[in-house]
Parts: sequence; structure tokens; C-alpha cells
Amino acid sequence: MTADCVFCRIINGDATARVVLETDTVLAFHDINPQTPTHVLVIPKEHFPAVGDMDPTTAGEVLAAAHQVAKAEGVDESGYRLVFNTGPDTGQTVFHVHCHVLGGRELHWPPG
Ligand code: C5P
Repeated sequence: MTADCVFCRIINGDATARVVLETDTVLAFHDINPQTPTHVLVIPKEHFPAVGDMDPTTAGEVLAAAHQVAKAEGVDESGYRLVFNTGPDTGQTVFHVHCHVLGGRELHWPPG
């Protein structure tokens, strides 16, 4: 738990979020500023600043949860994209690792 981290505050119940999935180790909730019809964030409950800080077990749990979210949101067959923004070139704004689950429309490649 990091006091000034908004995602730690959501995990703690000190900030609200529209939760779609919760396990002992991860939480998934709708992004407050959705970029696609389905836009859910999957985060580990433990605070890691970025993707490279996670241990492999936690990283695997985040990925497994992201696929479960895609199924629950009905985009697993049409397709979805997982994104971990990491560092200044990506515009990462929240330094508690999060996996964006994006889907519900055609996504262009390469990304902008
Ligand atoms: O990957 P990046 O750090 O840029 O994205 C952070 C994401 O967290 C944004 O998409 C933002 O809308 C979302 N967010 C949220 N709830 C908050 C604060 C940020 O869904 N309370």
C-alpha cells in the first residue's frame, strides 16, 4: 500500500471504482476515461510501479485475469488488446502497474 497511489486507494476502499473482477491478488475495474467500448484495468493488489517490477507469478495472475475480463465483457472472440504503458514515451500516468483491456471495436495497428 502506497498512500499517494490512487489505485492503492481503490484497493483499500478509500476511492471508488466500478469493479468487474476481484481475486485474492488482483482487482479489475472500468477505466474512468474509456478509450474503447470495453476498457477495463487489471491491477495487482500489491503495489508495483511498472510491469518490470512484478514477479512472474503476479504477472501471470494479471494476464489470466485480463483474459477472464475479456470473456466476461464479451470481447474474447471479436478480439481485444492488452496494454501496459511503461515510462515517459507511453504517457504512463499512474505508477501502480495496470493492464489495459481494450476491445469492443476495431483497433488500429500500429498504435498512435
Ligand atoms: O497507462 P496510464 O498510466 O496512462 O493510464 C492510467 C489509466 O488510469 C487512465 O486510462 C485513467 O483513465 C485511469 N484511471 C482510472 N481511475 C482513476 C485514475 C485513473 O480509471 N481513479
